[in-house]
Amino acid sequence: MAMIPLAVPDLSGNESRYLQECIDTSFVSSVGPFVDRFEQMVAKSTGSTGAVATSSGTTALHLALVTVGVVPGDLVILPSLTFIASANAISHAGASPWLFDVNSESWTLDPGQLETQLALETEFIDGQLTHKSSNRRISAIMPVYTLGLSADMDRIYNIAKTYRIPIVADAAAAIGAKYRDRPIGGLNASMSVLSFNGNKTATSGSGGAIISNDESLLAHAKHLSTTARCGADYSHDQIGYNYRMSNIEAAIGCAQLERIDSLVSAKQKIDKTYREAFCTLRDIEFFPSPDWARSSNWFSGFVLGPTYSDASNFCQRLNDLNIGARPFWKPVHLQSPYVTSVIENMEVTDNLWRHIVTLPCSTGLTKEEQEIVINAVHEVSNQQ
Ligand SMILES: *Cc1c(COP(=O)(O)O)cnc(C)c1O
Repeated sequence: MAMIPLAVPDLSGNESRYLQECIDTSFVSSVGPFVDRFEQMVAKSTGSTGAVATSSGTTALHLALVTVGVVPGDLVILPSLTFIASANAISHAGASPWLFDVNSESWTLDPGQLETQLALETEFIDGQLTHKSSNRRISAIMPVYTLGLSADMDRIYNIAKTYRIPIVADAAAAIGAKYRDRPIGGLNASMSVLSFNGNKTATSGSGGAIISNDESLLAHAKHLSTTARCGADYSHDQIGYNYRMSNIEAAIGCAQLERIDSLVSAKQKIDKTYREAFCTLRDIEFFPSPDWARSSNWFSGFVLGPTYSDASNFCQRLNDLNIGARPFWKPVHLQSPYVTSVIENMEVTDNLWRHIVTLPCSTGLTKEEQEIVINAVHEVSNQQ
């Protein structure tokens, strides 16, 4: 039996037709009609004023940080429970992450810890919010929408407003998510970032996007993404980047976004089916679903309780049964490039990350395949 993969794209719509169109019209590079259309579709599906398409989620994060004013030497507040790309984007901007815990209610940036530590560890010096012990300026907060679940953005925004720091949200896998019935484009972040990597709910092959409701920030980001070019005469007014999405990638992205509602509902249905199938599974907990948010359910799975060994062992047993299960992110504060960061108490993250099991959740997962996964999970659980 072939392995049932963790998350692979469903390219059964207009993807191949649009790709052929790129070749037929020779628009294969970083300008083209699909790029413009993709940006409009991203803005519309996230409830944002506009969008800037980029070559990846990581480059979108870097660009958004630079656009809101992060400069070398700064600190950027980040939950440690994230994919390392969030921290890397901060490093690419010459800044360093200030690492926070998540709360157990949502696995997103803990607003309580944020509020307490900002009060204790910072002061305004010459109008700049400064981290006292490192004497570094704090220039952004980057909440992460873990597993497609938004952070508690009203609370985080109130704190950000008090301390006058912009929010750049890492919403990489959160297309389709809602917070208090608002879509992710309407959540008080100066800029939010999506990824369209192959393992996300919608893909463009590789790619990302910045969304915002601030037209001037969007224009600035777009300018920086295209080598800060001022016209056709090779004039450039800043050190820009070559971060644009290509028309080929956007062609795939457009075909995916045409079906975004059905891709998101496929993810949510998979999650619901797993929850129903595993409610009798001993000593596990489901991924959080606080009543203030609706996850896009990018990934599905559960957390193993203390009677199990860790998730890597459980996943290995599932892999032996040809189920593409995987543990989840190793947090940033335990990654060698970041162990010397400014790190807050990590109680929730430390107790959590080794026990998370993610299960096959491709948008094209069939009912029969999900049955096979469910039976295998029961089998492995019974043997442990
Ligand atoms: C996927 C992901 C990224 C990186 O996106 P790429 O397109 O792979 O560069 C960043 N942050 C989070 C939370 C992600 O899930």
